[in-house]
Amino acid sequence: MPEGDTVYRAANALRGALAGTVLTRCDIRVPKFATVDLTGETVHEVLSRGKHLLIRVGDFSVHSHLKMEGTWQIYPNGAKWRQPSFKARAILANSAVTAVGFELGLFEVVRTADEDTVVGYLGPDLLGENWDASVAIGNLRREPDREIGLALLDQRVLAGLGNVYRNELCFLRGALPTRATGDIADLPAMVDLAKRLIEANKDRSTRTTTGRLRGQTFWVYGRDGRPCSRCGTTILRGELGDTELQLRDTYWCPHCQT
Ligand SMILES: [Zn+2]
Repeated sequence: MPEGDTVYRAANALRGALAGTVLTRCDIRVPKFATVDLTGETVHEVLSRGKHLLIRVGDFSVHSHLKMEGTWQIYPNGAKWRQPSFKARAILANSAVTAVGFELGLFEVVRTADEDTVVGYLGPDLLGENWDASVAIGNLRREPDREIGLALLDQRVLAGLGNVYRNELCFLRGALPTRATGDIADLPAMVDLAKRLIEANKDRSTRTTTGRLRGQTFWVYGRDGRPCSRCGTTILRGELGDTELQLRDTYWCPHCQT
C-alpha cells in the first residue's frame, strides 16, 4: 500500500500535467459515477491529503485512494498504456496528455464544497501545508492504551504513514509495535522523526530510512529472518491490526526494541 510520499508525488505529477487546463475527455468507469462528465471544465488544482488524492475540476473534486494496486499514470495523447485498458477506472485528458487512474481502491466525485465529507476526518497531514505536530501528538496521547503500531497507521491520528514507516519508526525509536502509546518515552520525537523521514523521501522514487539509496534501504521492514544491522539479532515478523481484516505485517528487532 502506498505511503503519503507516493501520493504526494502522484499529486505533483498530475498537477503538472492537468492544472490550469481544460479537460477534453472525461471517461469514468466506476459505475456509480459513470455518468459524470467533466469535459470542458478547468482543472483548478491537484493535491494530496495524507494518502488521498483530490483533483479539483470545475465545481467538483475527483477523490481517489490508491489502496493496494492503484496508480495514476500520465501519457502523451495517443500513447500506448502500460496497463490493460480494463484496469482503468478513470481517464482525464486535456489537449496534450491523458491521465489514467488504474485499479484505484476508492473513487468518487463530490462537490468541492463538500470535500470535508470525504477527507475531513483525517488527522494532520505530514506533507500538508497545515501540518501541526502538536495536534498529532495530542491525538496519540488521547488513546494511551492503544498499540503504537496501530496508532501510527490510523489516518485520523495523523495522515500519511503506511506500513513501511510505522515499522521503521518503531525500530528507530526503540519501541515494539505492540507497545502501548502511553508508554512511549518521547512521543514528540517519534512524530518529529515521522515528519523528517517522509519529508526526506517525498521527492525521490526510492524510499529509504537508512539513508542508503541502494542495498539496504530499510532497517527492519521486509527483513524478517535476517540480522539486525545494529546488533545482529534476527529480525522477527508478526501481524497487527484493529481487526482480523486489517492485519498488516510488523517487523522488529527483539533486542533493539522493547
Ligand atoms: Zn537490533
